[in-house]
Amino acid sequence: MGTQGRKIVGTDVKDLVNLLNKAYSDEWLAYYQYWIGSKVVKGPNKEAVIAELTLHATEELAHATLLTTRIIQLGGTPVTKPQDWYKFTNCGYDAPDDPFIVKVLEQNIKGEQCAIKTYNMFLSILSQEVEHEEDLQALLEDVEIIMKNR
Ligand code: MG
Ligand code: FE
Ligand code: FE
Repeated sequence: MGTQGRKIVGTDVKDLVNLLNKAYSDEWLAYYQYWIGSKVVKGPNKEAVIAELTLHATEELAHATLLTTRIIQLGGTPVTKPQDWYKFTNCGYDAPDDPFIVKVLEQNIKGEQCAIKTYNMFLSILSQEVEHEEDLQALLEDVEIIMKNR
């Protein structure tokens, strides 16, 4: 690969690591929002809500694990300081200072709606990457056919 090509790929990887760190920060904040919400929540149907919030907390932490693994694979550095989660986050953090069950559920619904938007963007990037691979493999097949018939 030429100098310019490497520069372009290098920039892309940096952008990707930045996006992944933003999502990574979201996941930690979501994890804590669910976890602390499950501890303080009060109101009707509390037991069912606590069970679901607790499960979601573990799932958000698993998302953070997947993201940090990918960031490291790409040669990036995952956010190392919790205070930097606030600098990177897309979706922010809603403290359950009002523990009323309706309020806590509404805050977490808002968080998931934001997460859906973030990962929708990832999906559109993914579909373009899939298309890029197809384009390149098709070109490679053409080149191989030309070389064989020479
Ligand atoms: Mg669930
Ligand atoms: Fe998540
Ligand atoms: Fe989630």
